[in-house]
Amino acid sequence: MAENEITQVMSRRGYELATDVYHRRTTRKQAIDTLVSETDMNRGSAADFIANFRHMRRGEEYHRTLNLFTTTYFLDRVRQEFGLHAFKTALSALQKHLDYYDALGKGRQPKLRELLQKSMDSAHLEQDLIDKAGPPHDAPQASDLAEAPRRVATTISRIVRDTVLANRVKALHNYECQICGHTITLADGSRYAEGHHVRPLGAPHDGPDVLGNILCLCPNHHAACDLGAISLDSQKLRWNEAHQMDQKFIEYHNLTIFGH
Ligand SMILES: [Zn+2]
Repeated sequence: MAENEITQVMSRRGYELATDVYHRRTTRKQAIDTLVSETDMNRGSAADFIANFRHMRRGEEYHRTLNLFTTTYFLDRVRQEFGLHAFKTALSALQKHLDYYDALGKGRQPKLRELLQKSMDSAHLEQDLIDKAGPPHDAPQASDLAEAPRRVATTISRIVRDTVLANRVKALHNYECQICGHTITLADGSRYAEGHHVRPLGAPHDGPDVLGNILCLCPNHHAACDLGAISLDSQKLRWNEAHQMDQKFIEYHNLTIFGH
């Protein structure tokens, strides 16, 4: 393999580690070490991945070009995991990068320009649909999602990858835990909470990815629910008019997951 060639494995792993750094689940140095040792990426490229993801999340100009596959992959994942607003922010970072690059006079990047244009068109289209659809009760149901919901893996070191609907639930509750009201404020001032599928996605529970099956929880209460350490009481949960929980999933938790 050529020293600077970026493979798809590097792009995928690079994205995961860059999000972990951004959300402070690991340090920048640890992530770069991991990327270099797992994928043979050179340190400079590994550092670019971490930095460019941060710039995309913040809508800032970045200078080192990511290849077409990596750029496409990063944009797709940002859109899936963080929603339309984050996707538009990432596109503005890409636009600034391409303008910067054009100004250098070292040639243009037509494939990335084309990607930017297609992505912006698609973002406008989605925004139009949202504007026409009205408030969140018109949210797509699981059957409307392009892909089946991914299973949320519970491990000692938890990496939570939320669905679009889980992100919506968290936003509706302003990232405050529905059990204790706690939120985590990150260094950049943004808030952090986790979306919990009360009847879990995937085998053996096969719960649905719908608003009525998702709670916004702090990491402690998320773990306590996942591990069946606590029961849920609908009367005591914090509610929001735009987000109604389905009682049958609460009962499922109390009968099938609590104490097991
Ligand atoms: Zn809590």
